[in-house]
Amino acid sequence: MTDVEKRPASVPAPAGWDYAPAPEARDIVQLRERYGLFVGGQWLEPKETYTTISPANEEPLAEIAQATPEEVADAVAAARVAFEDGWSSLPGSERAKYLFRIARILQERSREFAVLESLNGGKPIKESRDVDVPLAAAHFFYHAGWADKLEYAFPNRRPKPLGVAGQIIPWNFPLLMLAWKIAPALAAGNTVVLKPAETTPLSALLFCDVLRQAELPPGVVNIVTGDGRTGAALVDSPVDKIAFTGSTEVGKAIQRHLAGKQVKLTLELGGKAANVIFDDAALDQAVEGIVNGIYFNQGHVCCAGSRLFVQESVAEDVVSKLKRRMGTLRVGDPLDKNTDVGAINSAPQLEKIKELVASGEEEGAQIYQPPCRLPERGYWFAPTVFTEVAQSYRIAQEEIFGPVLSVLTFRTPEEALEKANNTPYGLSAGVWTEKGSRILWMAERLRAGVVWANTYNRFDPASPFGGYRESGFGREGGRHGLEAYMRFE
Ligand code: NDP
Repeated sequence: MTDVEKRPASVPAPAGWDYAPAPEARDIVQLRERYGLFVGGQWLEPKETYTTISPANEEPLAEIAQATPEEVADAVAAARVAFEDGWSSLPGSERAKYLFRIARILQERSREFAVLESLNGGKPIKESRDVDVPLAAAHFFYHAGWADKLEYAFPNRRPKPLGVAGQIIPWNFPLLMLAWKIAPALAAGNTVVLKPAETTPLSALLFCDVLRQAELPPGVVNIVTGDGRTGAALVDSPVDKIAFTGSTEVGKAIQRHLAGKQVKLTLELGGKAANVIFDDAALDQAVEGIVNGIYFNQGHVCCAGSRLFVQESVAEDVVSKLKRRMGTLRVGDPLDKNTDVGAINSAPQLEKIKELVASGEEEGAQIYQPPCRLPERGYWFAPTVFTEVAQSYRIAQEEIFGPVLSVLTFRTPEEALEKANNTPYGLSAGVWTEKGSRILWMAERLRAGVVWANTYNRFDPASPFGGYRESGFGREGGRHGLEAYMRFE
Protein backbone atom coordinates (compact mmCIF):
# COMPACT_ATOMS: atom_id res chain seq x y z
CA MET A 1 0.00 0.00 0.00
CA THR A 2 1.12 3.55 -0.64
CA ASP A 3 0.23 6.33 1.74
CA VAL A 4 -1.13 9.37 -0.03
CA GLU A 5 1.15 12.23 0.92
CA LYS A 6 -0.53 14.28 3.62
CA ARG A 7 -1.67 17.57 2.15
CA PRO A 8 -2.28 20.70 4.20
CA ALA A 9 -5.84 20.51 5.44
CA SER A 10 -7.77 23.09 7.39
CA VAL A 11 -10.09 20.33 8.55
CA PRO A 12 -8.90 17.19 10.26
CA ALA A 13 -10.18 13.94 8.80
CA PRO A 14 -12.98 12.49 10.91
CA ALA A 15 -12.26 9.58 13.16
CA GLY A 16 -12.31 6.70 10.68
CA TRP A 17 -14.70 3.79 10.77
CA ASP A 18 -13.02 0.49 10.31
CA TYR A 19 -14.73 -1.82 7.88
CA ALA A 20 -13.92 -5.50 7.69
CA PRO A 21 -13.27 -6.66 4.12
CA ALA A 22 -16.50 -7.60 2.33
CA PRO A 23 -15.29 -9.10 -0.93
CA GLU A 24 -17.80 -10.13 -3.58
CA ALA A 25 -17.04 -13.67 -4.78
CA ARG A 26 -15.56 -13.48 -8.23
CA ASP A 27 -15.99 -17.15 -9.11
CA ILE A 28 -19.48 -16.44 -10.46
CA VAL A 29 -17.64 -15.19 -13.56
CA GLN A 30 -16.21 -17.89 -15.80
CA LEU A 31 -13.71 -16.27 -18.12
CA ARG A 32 -12.48 -17.92 -21.29
CA GLU A 33 -8.80 -17.76 -22.03
CA ARG A 34 -9.47 -16.19 -25.40
CA TYR A 35 -12.38 -14.44 -27.06
CA GLY A 36 -13.06 -14.18 -30.77
CA LEU A 37 -15.37 -11.83 -32.65
CA PHE A 38 -19.12 -12.28 -32.46
CA VAL A 39 -20.27 -12.09 -36.07
CA GLY A 40 -23.43 -13.53 -37.59
CA GLY A 41 -24.22 -15.31 -34.32
CA GLN A 42 -20.90 -17.21 -34.39
CA TRP A 43 -17.58 -16.80 -32.62
CA LEU A 44 -14.87 -16.16 -35.23
CA GLU A 45 -11.27 -17.09 -34.44
CA PRO A 46 -9.27 -13.87 -34.18
CA LYS A 47 -6.30 -13.15 -36.43
CA GLU A 48 -4.66 -10.85 -33.86
CA THR A 49 -5.19 -10.58 -30.11
CA TYR A 50 -4.27 -8.43 -27.12
CA THR A 51 -4.58 -8.99 -23.37
CA THR A 52 -7.24 -7.32 -21.28
CA ILE A 53 -6.38 -6.76 -17.62
CA SER A 54 -7.89 -5.80 -14.31
CA PRO A 55 -6.89 -2.16 -13.65
CA ALA A 56 -7.08 -2.79 -9.89
CA ASN A 57 -4.06 -5.12 -9.87
CA GLU A 58 -2.87 -5.40 -13.51
CA GLU A 59 -3.77 -9.11 -13.52
CA PRO A 60 -4.27 -10.42 -17.08
CA LEU A 61 -7.86 -11.59 -17.56
CA ALA A 62 -8.22 -12.85 -21.14
CA GLU A 63 -6.97 -12.64 -24.71
CA ILE A 64 -9.18 -10.41 -26.85
CA ALA A 65 -9.52 -10.16 -30.63
CA GLN A 66 -8.08 -7.11 -32.34
CA ALA A 67 -10.48 -6.93 -35.29
CA THR A 68 -8.93 -6.04 -38.63
CA PRO A 69 -10.73 -3.87 -41.24
CA GLU A 70 -11.62 -7.06 -43.17
CA GLU A 71 -13.20 -8.59 -40.07
CA VAL A 72 -15.13 -5.38 -39.41
CA ALA A 73 -16.36 -5.53 -43.01
CA ASP A 74 -17.55 -9.13 -42.40
CA ALA A 75 -19.46 -7.98 -39.32
CA VAL A 76 -21.12 -5.13 -41.24
CA ALA A 77 -22.03 -7.56 -44.05
CA ALA A 78 -23.57 -9.97 -41.49
CA ALA A 79 -25.60 -7.09 -40.01
CA ARG A 80 -26.75 -6.08 -43.51
CA VAL A 81 -27.94 -9.61 -44.29
CA ALA A 82 -29.78 -9.83 -40.96
CA PHE A 83 -31.42 -6.44 -41.61
CA GLU A 84 -32.63 -7.38 -45.07
CA ASP A 85 -33.48 -11.00 -44.31
CA GLY A 86 -36.11 -10.38 -41.71
CA TRP A 87 -35.24 -8.19 -38.73
CA SER A 88 -36.39 -4.94 -40.33
CA SER A 89 -39.69 -6.45 -41.46
CA LEU A 90 -40.40 -8.37 -38.25
CA PRO A 91 -43.52 -7.00 -36.52
CA GLY A 92 -42.64 -4.65 -33.67
CA SER A 93 -44.35 -6.94 -31.18
CA GLU A 94 -41.91 -9.73 -32.17
CA ARG A 95 -38.88 -7.47 -31.82
CA ALA A 96 -40.23 -6.44 -28.41
CA LYS A 97 -40.20 -10.07 -27.25
CA TYR A 98 -36.46 -10.31 -27.87
CA LEU A 99 -35.81 -7.05 -26.04
CA PHE A 100 -37.89 -8.19 -23.06
CA ARG A 101 -35.99 -11.47 -23.01
CA ILE A 102 -32.63 -9.68 -23.07
CA ALA A 103 -33.77 -7.42 -20.20
CA ARG A 104 -34.90 -10.36 -18.12
CA ILE A 105 -31.72 -12.35 -18.74
CA LEU A 106 -29.62 -9.33 -17.75
CA GLN A 107 -31.57 -9.20 -14.50
CA GLU A 108 -31.17 -12.91 -13.89
CA ARG A 109 -27.44 -12.71 -14.54
CA SER A 110 -26.99 -9.35 -12.87
CA ARG A 111 -24.50 -10.51 -10.26
CA GLU A 112 -22.28 -12.09 -12.90
CA PHE A 113 -22.35 -8.90 -14.99
CA ALA A 114 -21.69 -6.70 -11.97
CA VAL A 115 -18.62 -8.69 -10.94
CA LEU A 116 -17.28 -8.77 -14.48
CA GLU A 117 -17.82 -5.03 -14.96
CA SER A 118 -15.90 -4.23 -11.76
CA LEU A 119 -13.17 -6.73 -12.57
CA ASN A 120 -12.46 -5.39 -16.04
CA GLY A 121 -13.23 -1.71 -15.49
CA GLY A 122 -12.15 -1.03 -11.89
CA LYS A 123 -15.45 0.47 -10.71
CA PRO A 124 -16.77 -0.36 -7.23
CA ILE A 125 -19.03 -3.40 -7.17
CA LYS A 126 -21.76 -1.49 -5.38
CA GLU A 127 -21.96 0.87 -8.38
CA SER A 128 -21.97 -1.85 -11.04
CA ARG A 129 -24.47 -3.86 -8.96
CA ASP A 130 -26.81 -0.96 -8.10
CA VAL A 131 -26.42 1.36 -11.08
CA ASP A 132 -24.80 -0.03 -14.24
CA VAL A 133 -26.51 -3.40 -14.50
CA PRO A 134 -30.04 -2.44 -13.35
CA LEU A 135 -30.02 0.60 -15.62
CA ALA A 136 -28.82 -1.51 -18.56
CA ALA A 137 -31.74 -3.91 -18.02
CA ALA A 138 -34.10 -0.93 -17.63
CA HIS A 139 -33.04 0.38 -21.06
CA PHE A 140 -33.99 -2.91 -22.69
CA PHE A 141 -37.33 -3.00 -20.84
CA TYR A 142 -38.09 0.58 -21.80
CA HIS A 143 -37.29 0.11 -25.47
CA ALA A 144 -39.15 -3.21 -25.61
CA GLY A 145 -42.18 -1.12 -24.74
CA TRP A 146 -41.68 1.15 -27.74
CA ALA A 147 -40.92 -1.53 -30.35
CA ASP A 148 -44.56 -2.11 -31.30
CA LYS A 149 -45.68 1.49 -30.71
CA LEU A 150 -43.43 3.45 -33.02
CA GLU A 151 -46.36 4.92 -34.92
CA TYR A 152 -47.71 6.24 -31.62
CA ALA A 153 -44.29 7.56 -30.63
CA PHE A 154 -44.18 9.59 -33.85
CA PRO A 155 -47.80 10.36 -34.77
CA ASN A 156 -48.61 11.31 -38.36
CA ARG A 157 -45.18 10.17 -39.55
CA ARG A 158 -44.20 6.80 -40.97
CA PRO A 159 -41.17 5.65 -38.98
CA LYS A 160 -38.73 3.27 -40.71
CA PRO A 161 -35.43 1.82 -39.50
CA LEU A 162 -32.18 3.20 -40.92
CA GLY A 163 -30.38 -0.08 -41.63
CA VAL A 164 -27.05 -1.04 -40.06
CA ALA A 165 -25.87 0.99 -37.07
CA GLY A 166 -22.15 1.15 -36.21
CA GLN A 167 -21.76 1.86 -32.50
CA ILE A 168 -18.58 2.81 -30.68
CA ILE A 169 -18.59 3.00 -26.90
CA PRO A 170 -16.13 4.07 -24.17
CA TRP A 171 -14.75 2.35 -21.10
CA ASN A 172 -16.47 4.25 -18.30
CA PHE A 173 -19.86 2.43 -18.44
CA PRO A 174 -19.23 -0.52 -20.77
CA LEU A 175 -22.48 -2.47 -20.30
CA LEU A 176 -24.67 0.57 -19.76
CA MET A 177 -23.39 2.32 -22.90
CA LEU A 178 -23.93 -0.90 -24.81
CA ALA A 179 -27.56 -0.91 -23.61
CA TRP A 180 -28.01 2.78 -24.46
CA LYS A 181 -26.88 2.00 -27.99
CA ILE A 182 -28.27 -1.44 -28.76
CA ALA A 183 -31.75 -1.20 -27.17
CA PRO A 184 -33.10 1.75 -29.24
CA ALA A 185 -31.41 0.48 -32.41
CA LEU A 186 -33.15 -2.90 -32.18
CA ALA A 187 -36.48 -1.45 -31.05
CA ALA A 188 -36.49 0.69 -34.18
CA GLY A 189 -35.71 -2.32 -36.41
CA ASN A 190 -32.01 -1.73 -37.14
CA THR A 191 -29.18 -4.20 -36.88
CA VAL A 192 -25.92 -3.43 -35.11
CA VAL A 193 -22.15 -3.72 -35.16
CA LEU A 194 -20.80 -2.56 -31.80
CA LYS A 195 -17.21 -1.91 -30.77
CA PRO A 196 -16.52 -1.81 -27.04
CA ALA A 197 -13.52 0.12 -25.69
CA GLU A 198 -10.16 -1.60 -25.87
CA THR A 199 -9.73 -1.72 -22.08
CA THR A 200 -13.24 -2.98 -21.19
CA PRO A 201 -14.47 -5.55 -23.73
CA LEU A 202 -15.54 -8.33 -21.35
CA SER A 203 -19.12 -7.37 -20.49
CA ALA A 204 -19.92 -6.86 -24.19
CA LEU A 205 -18.51 -10.34 -24.87
CA LEU A 206 -20.58 -11.87 -22.06
CA PHE A 207 -23.57 -10.04 -23.53
CA CYS A 208 -23.15 -12.20 -26.68
CA ASP A 209 -24.05 -15.14 -24.49
CA VAL A 210 -27.23 -13.30 -23.45
CA LEU A 211 -28.08 -12.78 -27.12
CA ARG A 212 -27.75 -16.50 -27.75
CA GLN A 213 -29.86 -17.31 -24.70
CA ALA A 214 -32.51 -14.89 -25.98
CA GLU A 215 -32.28 -16.61 -29.38
CA LEU A 216 -31.84 -13.30 -31.16
CA PRO A 217 -31.56 -14.06 -34.90
CA PRO A 218 -27.91 -14.31 -36.05
CA GLY A 219 -26.32 -11.10 -37.31
CA VAL A 220 -28.78 -8.71 -35.63
CA VAL A 221 -26.07 -7.80 -33.12
CA ASN A 222 -22.38 -8.24 -33.92
CA ILE A 223 -19.55 -7.38 -31.51
CA VAL A 224 -16.10 -6.48 -32.82
CA THR A 225 -13.34 -5.81 -30.29
CA GLY A 226 -10.09 -3.95 -30.76
CA ASP A 227 -8.50 -0.55 -30.33
CA GLY A 228 -9.15 2.76 -32.08
CA ARG A 229 -8.17 1.25 -35.46
CA THR A 230 -11.16 -1.10 -35.23
CA GLY A 231 -13.38 1.90 -34.41
CA ALA A 232 -11.98 3.81 -37.38
CA ALA A 233 -12.62 0.81 -39.67
CA LEU A 234 -16.23 0.71 -38.48
CA VAL A 235 -16.67 4.42 -39.19
CA ASP A 236 -15.23 3.83 -42.66
CA SER A 237 -17.59 0.95 -43.49
CA PRO A 238 -20.92 1.01 -45.37
CA VAL A 239 -23.16 1.59 -42.34
CA ASP A 240 -26.25 3.82 -42.22
CA LYS A 241 -25.64 5.32 -38.83
CA ILE A 242 -22.73 5.89 -36.45
CA ALA A 243 -23.42 6.39 -32.76
CA PHE A 244 -20.30 7.36 -30.83
CA THR A 245 -19.63 8.07 -27.17
CA GLY A 246 -16.12 9.09 -26.20
CA SER A 247 -13.66 11.95 -26.39
CA THR A 248 -14.36 15.21 -28.19
CA GLU A 249 -11.17 14.76 -30.21
CA VAL A 250 -12.19 11.38 -31.69
CA GLY A 251 -15.80 12.59 -32.09
CA LYS A 252 -14.59 15.49 -34.22
CA ALA A 253 -12.43 13.18 -36.33
CA ILE A 254 -15.46 10.94 -36.95
CA GLN A 255 -17.60 13.95 -37.89
CA ARG A 256 -14.95 15.13 -40.36
CA HIS A 257 -14.72 11.66 -41.86
CA LEU A 258 -18.47 11.37 -42.36
CA ALA A 259 -19.01 14.88 -43.70
CA GLY A 260 -20.93 14.71 -46.97
CA LYS A 261 -21.78 11.00 -46.59
CA GLN A 262 -25.29 9.65 -46.18
CA VAL A 263 -24.59 8.36 -42.68
CA LYS A 264 -26.62 9.57 -39.72
CA LEU A 265 -24.43 10.56 -36.78
CA THR A 266 -24.89 11.10 -33.06
CA LEU A 267 -21.97 12.13 -30.84
CA GLU A 268 -21.96 12.03 -27.06
CA LEU A 269 -18.66 13.61 -26.08
CA GLY A 270 -17.01 15.11 -23.05
CA GLY A 271 -18.12 17.63 -20.48
CA LYS A 272 -16.98 19.99 -17.75
CA ALA A 273 -20.19 20.33 -15.81
CA ALA A 274 -20.97 23.07 -13.32
CA ASN A 275 -22.53 22.03 -10.03
CA VAL A 276 -23.90 25.26 -8.52
CA ILE A 277 -24.64 25.54 -4.78
CA PHE A 278 -26.64 28.55 -3.58
CA ASP A 279 -26.51 29.68 0.03
CA ASP A 280 -30.10 28.62 0.72
CA ALA A 281 -29.47 24.99 -0.32
CA ALA A 282 -29.63 22.13 2.16
CA LEU A 283 -25.86 22.01 2.52
CA ASP A 284 -25.45 18.48 3.88
CA GLN A 285 -27.56 17.14 1.03
CA ALA A 286 -25.61 19.27 -1.42
CA VAL A 287 -22.33 17.82 -0.13
CA GLU A 288 -23.66 14.33 -0.87
CA GLY A 289 -24.55 15.57 -4.35
CA ILE A 290 -21.07 17.00 -4.84
CA VAL A 291 -19.49 13.69 -3.80
CA ASN A 292 -21.82 11.72 -6.05
CA GLY A 293 -21.20 14.20 -8.86
CA ILE A 294 -17.43 13.88 -8.94
CA TYR A 295 -16.31 10.72 -7.10
CA PHE A 296 -18.93 8.35 -8.55
CA ASN A 297 -17.14 5.95 -10.91
CA GLN A 298 -13.79 7.63 -10.02
CA GLY A 299 -14.97 10.71 -11.91
CA HIS A 300 -14.87 8.75 -15.18
CA VAL A 301 -18.22 10.26 -16.10
CA CYS A 302 -18.85 12.55 -19.05
CA CYS A 303 -21.46 14.49 -17.05
CA ALA A 304 -19.38 14.56 -13.82
CA GLY A 305 -19.88 17.70 -11.74
CA SER A 306 -16.21 18.58 -12.01
CA ARG A 307 -16.57 22.37 -11.53
CA LEU A 308 -18.17 23.25 -8.24
CA PHE A 309 -19.53 26.79 -7.91
CA VAL A 310 -20.38 27.73 -4.32
CA GLN A 311 -21.99 30.97 -3.22
CA GLU A 312 -19.32 32.92 -1.34
CA SER A 313 -21.26 33.25 1.93
CA VAL A 314 -21.31 29.44 2.41
CA ALA A 315 -18.12 28.49 0.58
CA GLU A 316 -16.01 27.91 3.67
CA ASP A 317 -18.72 25.83 5.29
CA VAL A 318 -19.32 23.72 2.16
CA VAL A 319 -15.62 23.09 1.56
CA SER A 320 -15.07 22.11 5.16
CA LYS A 321 -18.05 19.70 5.11
CA LEU A 322 -16.82 18.31 1.81
CA LYS A 323 -13.32 17.63 3.14
CA ARG A 324 -14.78 15.83 6.13
CA ARG A 325 -16.95 13.72 3.85
CA MET A 326 -14.01 12.93 1.59
CA GLY A 327 -12.23 11.54 4.63
CA THR A 328 -14.92 8.86 4.89
CA LEU A 329 -14.60 7.65 1.27
CA ARG A 330 -13.14 4.18 1.09
CA VAL A 331 -10.70 3.79 -1.79
CA GLY A 332 -9.62 0.31 -2.81
CA ASP A 333 -10.56 -3.12 -4.13
CA PRO A 334 -13.44 -2.65 -6.61
CA LEU A 335 -14.81 -6.06 -5.64
CA ASP A 336 -15.17 -5.07 -1.97
CA LYS A 337 -18.79 -4.17 -1.25
CA ASN A 338 -17.68 -1.31 1.03
CA THR A 339 -15.54 0.42 -1.57
CA ASP A 340 -16.63 3.89 -2.65
CA VAL A 341 -13.84 4.77 -5.07
CA GLY A 342 -12.26 2.06 -7.21
CA ALA A 343 -9.35 1.91 -9.64
CA ILE A 344 -8.55 4.29 -12.48
CA ASN A 345 -9.41 2.54 -15.72
CA SER A 346 -5.98 2.44 -17.38
CA ALA A 347 -2.36 3.58 -17.09
CA PRO A 348 -2.77 6.28 -19.80
CA GLN A 349 -5.85 7.67 -18.02
CA LEU A 350 -3.94 7.77 -14.71
CA GLU A 351 -1.13 9.67 -16.44
CA LYS A 352 -3.62 12.15 -17.86
CA ILE A 353 -5.13 12.77 -14.40
CA LYS A 354 -1.68 13.20 -12.82
CA GLU A 355 -0.60 15.63 -15.50
CA LEU A 356 -3.68 17.82 -15.08
CA VAL A 357 -3.44 17.72 -11.28
CA ALA A 358 0.22 18.80 -11.50
CA SER A 359 -0.84 21.68 -13.74
CA GLY A 360 -3.40 22.76 -11.11
CA GLU A 361 -0.71 22.90 -8.43
CA GLU A 362 1.68 24.75 -10.74
CA GLU A 363 -0.94 27.31 -11.68
CA GLY A 364 -1.53 28.09 -8.01
CA ALA A 365 -4.62 26.17 -6.85
CA GLN A 366 -4.67 24.62 -3.34
CA ILE A 367 -4.90 20.83 -3.39
CA TYR A 368 -6.48 18.64 -0.73
CA GLN A 369 -6.56 14.86 -0.62
CA PRO A 370 -7.81 12.99 2.43
CA PRO A 371 -5.25 10.67 3.97
CA CYS A 372 -5.83 7.25 2.46
CA ARG A 373 -3.90 4.12 1.58
CA LEU A 374 -3.69 3.20 -2.08
CA PRO A 375 -2.82 -0.34 -3.24
CA GLU A 376 0.71 -0.76 -4.62
CA ARG A 377 -0.32 -2.48 -7.82
CA GLY A 378 -2.86 -1.24 -10.27
CA TYR A 379 -3.91 2.30 -11.16
CA TRP A 380 -5.05 4.49 -8.30
CA PHE A 381 -5.71 8.11 -7.57
CA ALA A 382 -6.99 9.57 -4.30
CA PRO A 383 -10.15 11.71 -4.26
CA THR A 384 -8.91 15.26 -4.79
CA VAL A 385 -10.31 18.74 -4.39
CA PHE A 386 -8.76 22.01 -5.54
CA THR A 387 -9.69 25.35 -3.98
CA GLU A 388 -8.49 28.82 -5.01
CA VAL A 389 -9.04 27.92 -8.62
CA ALA A 390 -9.21 30.61 -11.30
CA GLN A 391 -11.47 30.07 -14.30
CA SER A 392 -8.48 30.19 -16.63
CA TYR A 393 -6.69 27.24 -14.99
CA ARG A 394 -6.55 24.05 -17.00
CA ILE A 395 -8.26 22.14 -14.16
CA ALA A 396 -11.25 24.48 -14.58
CA GLN A 397 -11.29 24.23 -18.36
CA GLU A 398 -10.27 20.71 -19.43
CA GLU A 399 -12.05 17.43 -18.84
CA ILE A 400 -9.94 15.51 -16.30
CA PHE A 401 -12.12 12.39 -16.25
CA GLY A 402 -10.87 11.47 -12.80
CA PRO A 403 -11.76 11.99 -9.12
CA VAL A 404 -10.68 15.64 -9.15
CA LEU A 405 -12.93 18.57 -8.27
CA SER A 406 -12.25 22.28 -8.85
CA VAL A 407 -14.02 24.68 -6.49
CA LEU A 408 -14.84 28.24 -7.55
CA THR A 409 -17.08 30.81 -5.88
CA PHE A 410 -19.70 33.37 -6.93
CA ARG A 411 -21.79 36.11 -5.32
CA THR A 412 -24.93 36.51 -7.45
CA PRO A 413 -27.01 34.14 -9.60
CA GLU A 414 -25.92 36.12 -12.69
CA GLU A 415 -22.27 35.57 -11.83
CA ALA A 416 -22.90 31.85 -11.21
CA LEU A 417 -24.56 31.56 -14.59
CA GLU A 418 -21.86 33.42 -16.44
CA LYS A 419 -19.11 31.31 -14.89
CA ALA A 420 -21.02 28.03 -15.32
CA ASN A 421 -21.52 28.75 -19.02
CA ASN A 422 -17.87 29.71 -19.47
CA THR A 423 -16.90 26.38 -21.04
CA PRO A 424 -16.77 24.99 -24.56
CA TYR A 425 -18.80 22.00 -23.34
CA GLY A 426 -22.54 21.78 -22.66
CA LEU A 427 -23.53 18.37 -21.40
CA SER A 428 -24.89 18.70 -17.87
CA ALA A 429 -25.20 20.91 -14.81
CA GLY A 430 -26.54 20.83 -11.25
CA VAL A 431 -28.34 23.49 -9.22
CA TRP A 432 -28.84 23.35 -5.46
CA THR A 433 -31.27 25.83 -3.91
CA GLU A 434 -34.44 25.86 -1.89
CA LYS A 435 -36.17 28.22 -4.34
CA GLY A 436 -38.09 26.64 -7.19
CA SER A 437 -38.11 29.91 -9.13
CA ARG A 438 -34.33 30.07 -9.01
CA ILE A 439 -34.06 26.50 -10.25
CA LEU A 440 -36.23 27.41 -13.25
CA TRP A 441 -34.32 30.65 -13.85
CA MET A 442 -31.00 28.78 -13.88
CA ALA A 443 -32.23 25.77 -15.86
CA GLU A 444 -33.51 28.05 -18.62
CA ARG A 445 -30.18 29.79 -18.96
CA LEU A 446 -27.60 27.08 -18.31
CA ARG A 447 -26.23 25.89 -21.63
CA ALA A 448 -26.34 22.18 -20.86
CA GLY A 449 -28.32 19.25 -22.21
CA VAL A 450 -29.27 18.01 -18.73
CA VAL A 451 -29.81 20.13 -15.61
CA TRP A 452 -30.31 18.36 -12.30
CA ALA A 453 -32.01 20.22 -9.46
CA ASN A 454 -31.14 19.31 -5.87
CA THR A 455 -29.71 16.02 -7.09
CA TYR A 456 -26.97 14.84 -9.43
CA ASN A 457 -26.17 11.94 -11.78
CA ARG A 458 -29.75 10.64 -11.98
CA PHE A 459 -30.62 8.61 -15.06
CA ASP A 460 -33.76 7.13 -16.47
CA PRO A 461 -34.26 5.43 -19.84
CA ALA A 462 -37.28 7.65 -20.54
CA SER A 463 -35.25 10.83 -20.15
CA PRO A 464 -33.20 12.03 -23.16
CA PHE A 465 -29.51 12.61 -22.49
CA GLY A 466 -27.03 14.53 -24.66
CA GLY A 467 -25.21 17.80 -25.09
CA TYR A 468 -24.43 20.92 -27.06
CA ARG A 469 -21.28 22.34 -28.64
CA GLU A 470 -18.11 20.35 -27.77
CA SER A 471 -20.26 17.83 -25.90
CA GLY A 472 -21.73 16.60 -29.17
CA PHE A 473 -25.22 16.37 -30.58
CA GLY A 474 -28.15 13.98 -30.66
CA ARG A 475 -29.95 12.48 -27.70
CA GLU A 476 -29.98 9.01 -26.16
CA GLY A 477 -32.97 7.77 -24.17
CA GLY A 478 -36.62 8.66 -24.42
CA ARG A 479 -38.42 9.25 -27.69
CA HIS A 480 -35.66 11.61 -28.82
CA GLY A 481 -33.13 8.78 -28.60
CA LEU A 482 -35.39 6.46 -30.53
CA GLU A 483 -35.80 9.04 -33.28
CA ALA A 484 -32.06 8.98 -33.89
CA TYR A 485 -32.44 5.40 -35.16
CA MET A 486 -35.33 6.11 -37.55
CA ARG A 487 -36.06 7.76 -40.83
CA PHE A 488 -39.50 9.03 -41.72
CA GLU A 489 -41.41 8.61 -44.94
P1 NDP B 1 -11.73 7.69 -27.06
O1 NDP B 1 -12.59 8.74 -27.63
O2 NDP B 1 -10.44 7.40 -27.72
O3 NDP B 1 -12.51 6.29 -26.98
C1 NDP B 1 -13.89 6.08 -27.18
C2 NDP B 1 -14.12 4.93 -28.13
O4 NDP B 1 -13.69 5.29 -29.46
C3 NDP B 1 -13.32 3.68 -27.80
O5 NDP B 1 -14.05 2.54 -28.15
C4 NDP B 1 -12.10 3.85 -28.69
O6 NDP B 1 -11.40 2.67 -28.89
C5 NDP B 1 -12.73 4.36 -29.95
N1 NDP B 1 -11.81 5.04 -30.85
C6 NDP B 1 -10.57 5.53 -30.60
N2 NDP B 1 -10.04 6.12 -31.71
C7 NDP B 1 -10.98 5.99 -32.68
C8 NDP B 1 -11.05 6.40 -34.05
N3 NDP B 1 -10.06 7.07 -34.63
N4 NDP B 1 -12.16 6.11 -34.75
C9 NDP B 1 -13.20 5.49 -34.18
N5 NDP B 1 -13.19 5.06 -32.89
C10 NDP B 1 -12.11 5.32 -32.15
O7 NDP B 1 -11.49 8.01 -25.54
P2 NDP B 1 -10.24 7.53 -24.66
O8 NDP B 1 -10.55 6.19 -24.18
O9 NDP B 1 -8.95 7.71 -25.37
O10 NDP B 1 -10.29 8.59 -23.49
C11 NDP B 1 -9.66 9.85 -23.67
C12 NDP B 1 -10.45 10.94 -23.01
O11 NDP B 1 -11.73 11.02 -23.59
C13 NDP B 1 -10.74 10.71 -21.54
O12 NDP B 1 -9.70 11.11 -20.74
C14 NDP B 1 -11.97 11.54 -21.35
O13 NDP B 1 -11.60 12.87 -21.14
C15 NDP B 1 -12.69 11.42 -22.67
N6 NDP B 1 -13.75 10.38 -22.64
C16 NDP B 1 -15.03 10.79 -22.64
C17 NDP B 1 -16.03 9.85 -22.56
C18 NDP B 1 -17.45 10.24 -22.51
O14 NDP B 1 -18.28 9.46 -22.03
N7 NDP B 1 -17.82 11.37 -23.02
C19 NDP B 1 -15.76 8.42 -22.48
C20 NDP B 1 -14.37 8.09 -22.58
C21 NDP B 1 -13.43 9.05 -22.64
P3 NDP B 1 -10.22 2.33 -27.85
O15 NDP B 1 -10.87 2.05 -26.56
O16 NDP B 1 -9.61 1.15 -28.41
O17 NDP B 1 -9.31 3.54 -27.82
